Amino acid sequence: MAVLPLPALHASHSGCWRRDGSATRTISKGEAVTVAADTPQLILNAPLLATRLGYPDLAGLDLLELYAFIHPARFVVPTPKGLAHALGLTEPTGDPDVPRLLQEAAGALLEMCESDQWPEREGAWTALQSLIKMRWPWSTLLSARVRRPERAERWLFTRLPEWEESPEPAQPRQIVLEDEAVLARLAQLTGSSAEQRPGQRAYAAEAAHAFAPRERSGRPHVLLAQAGTGIGKTLGYLAPTSLWTEQSGGTVWVSTYTKALQRQLRQESRRAWPERRADGTRPVVVRKGRENYLCLLNLEDALQGGYQGRAAILAQLVARWAAYSRDGDMIGGDLPGWLGTLFRQRGIASLTDQRGECVYAGCPHYRKCFIERATRASIGADLVIGNHALVMVNAARGRDPASRPTRIVFDEGHHVFDAADSTFAAALTGAEAIELRRWVIGPEKNARGRRRGLAARLADIASYDEVGGKAITDARAAAEALPGDGWMQRLAENAASGPLEELLSAVRATVYARDESGGQDAGYALETEAAGLEGAFVEVSQAARMALVELRQPLIRLGMRLEALLEEPPDWLDGPGRARLEGARHSLTWRIDTLAAWESLLNRLGGAADPEFVDWRAVDRAEARVYDIGIHRRWLDPMKPFAKVVLEPAHGVMLTSATLRDGENWDKAVAKSGAGQIDVAPRLSAHQSPFDYAAQAEVLIVTDVSKGDIPALAGAYGRLIEASQGGALGLFTAIRRLRAVHGRIADRLARGGLPLYAQHVDPIDTGTLVDIFRDDPAASLLGTDALRDGVDVPGHSLRLVVMEQVPWPRPSILHRARRLANGGSAYDDSLIRAKLAQAFGRLIRSREDHGHFVVLSPAFPSRLLSAFPQGTPIRRISLEEALHRVAGHASGAPAVPAEDTRPLI
Ligand code: SF4
Repeated sequence: MAVLPLPALHASHSGCWRRDGSATRTISKGEAVTVAADTPQLILNAPLLATRLGYPDLAGLDLLELYAFIHPARFVVPTPKGLAHALGLTEPTGDPDVPRLLQEAAGALLEMCESDQWPEREGAWTALQSLIKMRWPWSTLLSARVRRPERAERWLFTRLPEWEESPEPAQPRQIVLEDEAVLARLAQLTGSSAEQRPGQRAYAAEAAHAFAPRERSGRPHVLLAQAGTGIGKTLGYLAPTSLWTEQSGGTVWVSTYTKALQRQLRQESRRAWPERRADGTRPVVVRKGRENYLCLLNLEDALQGGYQGRAAILAQLVARWAAYSRDGDMIGGDLPGWLGTLFRQRGIASLTDQRGECVYAGCPHYRKCFIERATRASIGADLVIGNHALVMVNAARGRDPASRPTRIVFDEGHHVFDAADSTFAAALTGAEAIELRRWVIGPEKNARGRRRGLAARLADIASYDEVGGKAITDARAAAEALPGDGWMQRLAENAASGPLEELLSAVRATVYARDESGGQDAGYALETEAAGLEGAFVEVSQAARMALVELRQPLIRLGMRLEALLEEPPDWLDGPGRARLEGARHSLTWRIDTLAAWESLLNRLGGAADPEFVDWRAVDRAEARVYDIGIHRRWLDPMKPFAKVVLEPAHGVMLTSATLRDGENWDKAVAKSGAGQIDVAPRLSAHQSPFDYAAQAEVLIVTDVSKGDIPALAGAYGRLIEASQGGALGLFTAIRRLRAVHGRIADRLARGGLPLYAQHVDPIDTGTLVDIFRDDPAASLLGTDALRDGVDVPGHSLRLVVMEQVPWPRPSILHRARRLANGGSAYDDSLIRAKLAQAFGRLIRSREDHGHFVVLSPAFPSRLLSAFPQGTPIRRISLEEALHRVAGHASGAPAVPAEDTRPLI
């Protein structure tokens, strides 16, 4: 076996180890820092090691960077064990084995470069030449091994395939799906050897109703289907979906909220559709928002000097990945989530098209663009796997009517309300306004990168068309009123410049004046109502509104001019120019709508409150640092715009989830579907989970850990994780408490062989944290709300969920308004029950799973207990008793003794 005989360094919460020559020894943190600073060491995940050593500048020969170069777009869990699996090496049995593994892994990776079997060889030599110039630490070792190709290599931009324009699809045939046919399709998808699942069959037959022909315009079929965990809902709805697409020739969108489900859907859809059709097109495509995909023009700019130092190295590794990527998806696709964090900056985000600066056909990479390819592929696809936000944005402002979804399955349907809430929100904040300014004017002085303003993006209009040119000049002048670079600093110094900064300054002053937090950072924004406003504030806001009107007018004129030019194209407008104008018109419409929403927001300030909306002013902070200031508006009921924009034009919509209704009650679920807003009575169906919760799970409410007692909380977490021997998911409602608990217990647990990872502590993205957790049954993971839904870990890796307290809703102005409108404390209760049900749902994912769900709460209200599935045993007990039960289970006993299966409350 090839071993690279360079010194290797490893540190965990339980200590530090270094291997030099052929011996590994334990060293102190101080010595580890000294050797790392002296000579480059073989390391794994520099930012994580830096956190463990408390030495932020740590650098070295990071195996993850080497892996990203040699095997771009290949999955690896970024831990010693994960690396060993990916490379077919022996898994280390403990921390002291890790340095040796690093030497072996480096040896194996470098050996691959010399092999003829290296699948990702093409492009490596060329990329390496640039990396040598950048003094990438691995480049010297690689240059001796990566041989120069005999013929010039295809460069990324030549290697990528071009997308093909496809004709508009015909309208789908109107068909009715017969039950027998749906069930036969389901049997085909699940396989003849699969067990008969009556729940799944009933669910699939119900799902077919969403595809029936619509009877009245504007009245889609709406189906709400509650599917208990384990029903097999994915194949349950894919059966009628695949049958309908086959018979009708239409497209169905399946929308998810989490990346985990998107991944699962991609896999399960393979049972129903081939990878490619006979004509080479793909029947199943994954669509995400454009901000997820690599923008080739941004990458080219980064490769050609737009990025410096470490960021330039990142750009080279991203270029290696792009050549092998399935679809160019940088966030949750096949780009390793850990790659961005290795470089500790916003490098990944700035390689996407986050700000809508795409120049469409004016871009030299337009025909190879990942975003354009994904957009086109979805038009002729049978199944489009999207997400809630994208479905809503597409329905609201889709560029192409043919790509608007008409048959939609919202899986994880309990999140549709939240997704609609954000999609239809308006926020006039400093960060949003400065983006608009940059979009119109272009980069500020000293800014790097290819960012260009409206005049540069529409250079031909600016030069050849008088009306369009004048509109661009006027817009540019008006955009000067928006906040510019350094706005936050100017506000802090009372030196606001221009009407929008004046407004933000007034927001800031009022929010601080009315702050009642007593200087405590509760981990979220400082807010105050946008009602009862003083005259001076109203004056400032009206001046700001006028400035926005001044900007919107020329943008409208420009939009109209572009439309006229597209209708009667002048000589100088060629085909690509046309496509570019189309694109520009689309992004203009979006900006004009944003400005109109801001104006309406300001217009209302000082007047009577509109009962449809909730407005407030806020100073947003994270880690006690202010990062944005502004005025916010939300719909009191965001399902109103959702119903208009998404439901009304659709023919069939299904919302499904394990936690759609509240207990047995459908009222909230029906209200949260939006169906009532367009006079549609949704079809309701519920399917019980096949799991035996009485035997598989136990809810333990621990009554003797006092709220707010951090040492006691940390002690409880530490002991529970020890009792279960890892495999614990700890959920927190506040980052502050999460950190405090982690800081107190991580070292002790690591010394016992129980690694503890945490969101907001470890410099690792959430998706990778979940991968690490899934991969190691001894590991535990602490996280906040986002983890409640994003973790799908069947099997032994997850056997204990611990909630630090009852997840009370955040007491925000928005929450207060909705609470008032929806029945007060009953509204809170239904929200909490939903959160508890979702968190509980993480625990039992298959018939083989067993585990405990622990809530640390001295006074857990009984009315919340209906959150848990019927039959689940529930006990209010002391921590000692809970430890006993969890430990009994960890040692192999069933979760609940056989004679003791009655629910106890
Ligand atoms: S077409 Fe737009 S998004 Fe695609 S590479 Fe070019 S500029 Fe980027």
